Amino acid sequence: MSAPLLTLDLDALADNWRRLAQLSGSETGATVKADGYGLGASRVARRLAEAGARSFFVALAEEGLAIRKVLGNGPRIFVFSGHMAGDAAMLRELGLIPLINSAEQMARHAETLPDHPFGIQLDSGMNRLGMEAPEWAAVRQIALQTAPQLVMSHLACADEPAHEMNARQRDRFIEMTAGLDAPRSLAATGGMLLGRDYHFELSRPGVGLYGGLPFEGAKPVVHAALPVIQIRDVEPGETVGYGNTWTAARPSRIATVAAGYADGIHRALSHKLQLWAGDTPCPTVGRISMDLIGVDVTDLPDEPEALDLLNAHQTVDKLADAAGTIGYEILTSLGARYKRRYLGGGA
Ligand SMILES: *Cc1c(COP(=O)(O)O)cnc(C)c1O
Repeated sequence: MSAPLLTLDLDALADNWRRLAQLSGSETGATVKADGYGLGASRVARRLAEAGARSFFVALAEEGLAIRKVLGNGPRIFVFSGHMAGDAAMLRELGLIPLINSAEQMARHAETLPDHPFGIQLDSGMNRLGMEAPEWAAVRQIALQTAPQLVMSHLACADEPAHEMNARQRDRFIEMTAGLDAPRSLAATGGMLLGRDYHFELSRPGVGLYGGLPFEGAKPVVHAALPVIQIRDVEPGETVGYGNTWTAARPSRIATVAAGYADGIHRALSHKLQLWAGDTPCPTVGRISMDLIGVDVTDLPDEPEALDLLNAHQTVDKLADAAGTIGYEILTSLGARYKRRYLGGGA
């Protein structure tokens, strides 16, 4: 077997959800967009539903399909991109709730799915998605006649608790939703950690469920192991990999593992990445190729069968730091080539 292996701990996932939910005095949903942050949306959604989640969030209507299949008809599935042209049949058949982003989407929804539930997305300052105050004022009356399921907005700087933008967006959200009966949602993972005055009636954490910052207390969910295909001896002066960027300074044992930048191990990590043999770090050598990476295993007592990319020592966020990115990007870049093994299936 030469495919790299992801081991996904669904009990840790459920535990992360429970611990975030305990912070909140109101409902806690779950964001499972981008295939459950790369971990497999069906398995993730099913486990979170078993743990008690009743409201799920995806980015695109298309992502609702896999989730509706495993959840059945009870739980709500909200769609951040709202109601796009051509979405009506899918929204209706899968029972998805679009989070309407504009007057144009509002009109499309009223025309094509007049009796179908919807939510409203407001822009409280991030300037990414949602209606700004004047547009909202223009459609507010129409929207409220049909009781939206949710009115939401999104924080731009919630991973920086001291950022003044947080309170500014919260104040604007309160202003824009004054006098409404509809349930409100503002907090993702970062917002949940800012405190209960950011939670409103429904929170929608994503990355913290999957073990990532800014949820410091998250349990790791992902373990990644890369099989060793071949081990060779390299003499001092010999080079390894494309471009001869690494030259052996001593007699070396070099393992070649079966994963590369096509598996989300960014090429920019060349000469920086370490892989782990249990508790022992081993430096990678030469450039990271598409499917292969060279690793210096000279100092190991035994020949390893596989080396870890993600484990207790090298978390998603540590790897992200080394790559100059964030845990979210590491998770969602892992890609389709890994064999996925799920631990813990729930109750
Ligand atoms: C991705 C996303 C979330 C989840 O964010 P995390 O930081 O992963 O918790 C919530 N709301 C919106 C609008 C999003 O785009």
